This record gives sequence, structure tokens and C-alpha cells, in this order.
Amino acid sequence: MTPTNMRAARFREVNEPLQLEDVPVPGLQEDEVLVQVKAVGLCGSDVHIVFEGVTPTPFTPITLGHEPSGVVAATGARVEGWEEGDRVAVTPLLFCSSCRNCITGHTNVCLERRILGIQANGALAEYLAVPAKNLVRLPENVPFTVGAVITDAVATPFQAIAERAALRAGETVAIFGAGGLGLHAVQISRLLGAQKVIVVDPREGQLERAAGMGADLTIDPQQTPPVEAIQEATGGLGVDVAAEFVGLQETIAQCVESVAMGGRVVVAGLGADPINIVPPTEFVRKGISLLGSYGFTKRNIEQLVQLAASGRLNLEESITHTFPLEEVNMALEYLHEKIENPIRIAVTL
Ligand SMILES: [Zn+2]
Ligand SMILES: [Zn+2]
Repeated sequence: MTPTNMRAARFREVNEPLQLEDVPVPGLQEDEVLVQVKAVGLCGSDVHIVFEGVTPTPFTPITLGHEPSGVVAATGARVEGWEEGDRVAVTPLLFCSSCRNCITGHTNVCLERRILGIQANGALAEYLAVPAKNLVRLPENVPFTVGAVITDAVATPFQAIAERAALRAGETVAIFGAGGLGLHAVQISRLLGAQKVIVVDPREGQLERAAGMGADLTIDPQQTPPVEAIQEATGGLGVDVAAEFVGLQETIAQCVESVAMGGRVVVAGLGADPINIVPPTEFVRKGISLLGSYGFTKRNIEQLVQLAASGRLNLEESITHTFPLEEVNMALEYLHEKIENPIRIAVTL
């Protein structure tokens, strides 16, 4: 029995705590499923919305939360293949399936794209209504918290490293930025068989985390010029793949300078300044590929769920903190202030 009302963590104004409000449980369109939310990963963009207003939401109040998992609570009239009680992770990108980008498989950049918790009410609530096509089945042995963080924090670097840069076994990789995305990029690179994983980040704690997750070499750019250190670590060749999760001119340029002949640079960090790299003479001669990577597809989430289920990818250590919905503001504070150096924080219900 689905109740008529539910608690939801609503955002109204930048720099004000989210309000836990009593709101109606959303009604269902024919093609939608009502998900009883069990876990929601918090993300840097939540911090940007709440504390900085950097990622503006076009309407308020809005329920935040875009990394959901839960169980199916009800299904719309035309939904097939899903039943009450099914465990699911939810792709937070709402896509139309019919625009040019969707038809060519690029649902991550759907022309009608909306993101839960940013352009539509999100998952920091007891229930969430989403199109059935956004659901990914979550096996019993994958915890809800893991299913939740897969939907963005792990799927974004997965697309960047596995698909866009197409890292292959035996290659070397340098990862710039060891936040949530970069740390998962370390795990994904190892999983894909990278011969050497190098991580660059000015935060000592993050470098320790990266080493703990299997980075072979960590570089603090305040202590050691990263490009030189990467060249040295690769016998003067440079890395096959450099991945950027920061979004800064300087680090993107360092990535380009760090790659070997024929190297691939993939940029997943978002930023406002134009990309300013090496002169074309060098770029052309070295045959460098410069690739952008935005978001992920539902397929990426399905692949990651299976990797977690089979034990190939252990994400349980990535969730360093969990908080109940009532303490969502404290959870956001932990992420904002980096209290206890969190990797990923999940809100559980
Ligand atoms: Zn996110
Ligand atoms: Zn579309």
C-alpha cells in the first residue's frame, strides 16, 4: 500500500538547509514506475547547488538527489517486466529515446535531457516516479548504497576511461584529480588491466586513498612537477591515456603534455575556461586525441552493476559515510567541508 504523502528533502535557496517537507507521493504516468527509495548517493553537484548555486536548478522548491536505488512500489498501466519489490538502481538522466542523439545511442546527451534532482524532482524522498526505461535491475548481493553510487559517481569515470579513452590491458594511465570520480577511475583502470596507474592531486589524503585503491604512483603537483614525474615513471614515453576529472585549463594542458605518441586525453571535468593546450605542431606530430566525456548511458550502469555483482569491482569501501534522510543536511555538510575525508556519502531510507 503506497501512502499518499511522503517526506522529501527540498531545496529552496542557496546556502539554506534543505527542508524536510511533507509532500504528496508523485502520481504515475502510464510508462512510469514508483520507486521506494532506499539509498541516494550525494555528489559534488549537490554541494554546488546547495552551497554555491553553481549548478542552478531552473525551478524551486525542488527535491534534490540524483543517485538513487530502491525497490519498485507500483507500476504504471503500460509498464511490463517490473514488479513490486524488484530491487533497482535508477539512471538519473531522463532521456526521450527519439531525438537524434538518443537514436544514435548517446542518451547521455539527449537533446531533451533532464536530470533528476536538478531539472526534475529527485530522489531525496521516500518515493520517486521515473520512466520504467530508467530502471536497472539490482541483484540481491549488490547493496542499495552501491547501486546508488554506481548511477553517477562510478558510471561517469567508467564512460570516460572504458568507452571514450578505450583503455586497454597493458596500457599506462594518468588520472588528474582524485575526488570521487578520479578514485573510481583508479579502480576501473585496474579492472581494465592498466599496467601502471598514476594519480595527480594536491590533496595528501586523496593521494593516500588513491594508493589504497591501487594507484602505483601518486604525485602531489605542489611538490613535484607532474608532467616530468609522469615522463620519468614511463621511461620518458608518457602515458597512453591521461584522464582529467578537474575541469581546469592547467590540468587539461598537463594531461596533453603527459601522453605518449598517439596518446588519448579524456576530459570529464567541467569548467568555464577555454581549453588551452600545446601548439598544433606538437599536438599533430604526436597524434594526440583529445576527447570529451559527459555523463554515462544506462548501459554503463548495467555493466557496472554486473561488475559489482560478480565481485570484480568492489565499491563497498567507496561509501565511507551513510546518513539517514533526517540528517541529510549533516551529510551535505560532511561533503562540503570534507569532514573525515569522505569518498562517497549515501543517504539511506
Ligand atoms: Zn552527480
Ligand atoms: Zn533524446
